[in-house]
Amino acid sequence: MTQRATAGPAKGWEYVIGLEVHTELKTRSKLFCGCPNAFGEEPNTSICPVCLGLPGSLPVMNAQAVDFAIRVGLALNATVQRSQFHRKNYFYPDMPKDYQISQYDVPINANGYLELPSGRVIGIERAHLEEDTGKLVHRGGHGRIESAAYSLIDYNRSGVPLLEIVSAPDIRDPEEAKEYVTELRAILVAVGASDGRMEEGSLRVDANVSVRPIGEATFRTRVEIKNLNSLRSLVRALTFEGHRQVQLYENGEAMIQQTRFWDEERSLTGALRLKEEANDYRYFPEPDLPPVAPDVELIEERRTELPELPSARRGSIAMILPELSADLRETIIADACWPYFRSAVDAGITPARAAARCANELTALLPDIGVLAPERFVEVLAIEDRGDLGASQVKILLREAASDPTPVKELVTKLGFTARDEDAMKAMVEEVVIRFPDEWGRYLGGDEKVAGFLLGQVMRQHGRQISGAGARQALLALADEARSGAE
Ligand SMILES: [Zn+2]
Repeated sequence: MTQRATAGPAKGWEYVIGLEVHTELKTRSKLFCGCPNAFGEEPNTSICPVCLGLPGSLPVMNAQAVDFAIRVGLALNATVQRSQFHRKNYFYPDMPKDYQISQYDVPINANGYLELPSGRVIGIERAHLEEDTGKLVHRGGHGRIESAAYSLIDYNRSGVPLLEIVSAPDIRDPEEAKEYVTELRAILVAVGASDGRMEEGSLRVDANVSVRPIGEATFRTRVEIKNLNSLRSLVRALTFEGHRQVQLYENGEAMIQQTRFWDEERSLTGALRLKEEANDYRYFPEPDLPPVAPDVELIEERRTELPELPSARRGSIAMILPELSADLRETIIADACWPYFRSAVDAGITPARAAARCANELTALLPDIGVLAPERFVEVLAIEDRGDLGASQVKILLREAASDPTPVKELVTKLGFTARDEDAMKAMVEEVVIRFPDEWGRYLGGDEKVAGFLLGQVMRQHGRQISGAGARQALLALADEARSGAE
């Protein structure tokens, strides 16, 4: 296992970070009712008595949400177990029931881990199901709660299924926290549980952070920073908070366990409230829902259906192209590229070529890849692998193959590219040979250096239609013919 160099908040100090990632599950309907789970609807249109918490309404469990939770648990190497819902009681205006249905002492997933690209392993304590709350919109005062004139409530989000994934306090610096969230997001997207859109709130992060002198084994008082909704905010807030805490210790001041907020504009964290203890929430079992007890066959079925996850992709690519840089590797194992790279390598395309075309041409087309399915991509690369078209032509062909559904072979003709048309290629070389008889004579006489000049002339005129490799072959064939004719 490789170790990465961690950066402490100050000399002699290190961070201790644990993250709680709330991910909205990509179900069609909400967790306990049939309302659509959609983003960006008109406020208070996707609501019903259940998600409004009206008296007498009863929750009904969403099987799809349980299924997604199981897939995520398996992908995070966790134990999937029989679990129980609890009521977490607290008052907040965006939560009409005054309690949130969540999981407490028996979460659906427990004791997993996630391996980072660096090779470091971060423990996953639990990943449990719960319902989302509604959303407060503050009007006036730049949308800030403390200066707003009034607030509005949108209950569309109320009851949307969330999976809260809680890491162990194993993360050792802000950049590693970013690496963890990036990897977790890739896993959530790969198993189909989330769309991973942080900017739409599909992934929201709370961070628990403390600092300690390097070498100290115990944990010190921690602070929870709420709602870090971008990777940039996450890194900046943790960095700020680490420095603040070291300062407090070095000034001999007391550290208070509290919940803080991150102010992106002013680049600081501020106190929100004293940290609640679990007993403040008066958890008790949800009487309207039976325990969730997925059967062993279902769990095993889901295990066999798991897609190739980022860590496995990383392993495969390290075997195929060990010299690839970490940046390129991460680009290629991303969901947008991986099926293309996989199909190409499986079809016998030169791996380095497949990697280059994925990292450059394919990513340039994103996010709209059009009609360029992996099979078409492989077809184009096979033409290049055979040397029938040159790199500049292949780049054009890939772009065209994304917007024009014409079969690849016909597209080559349509673009005026001469793929493996040996006669045409020969004619092009002959034309140059006639124009430069002296150079041609020297080449036939064994002066290999002139080949570059002759080919350069061919490419200057016809480079858009033919490949360099094809022209070189035509030149060799013509020279062979000339020599055997002279004998
Ligand atoms: Zn509803």
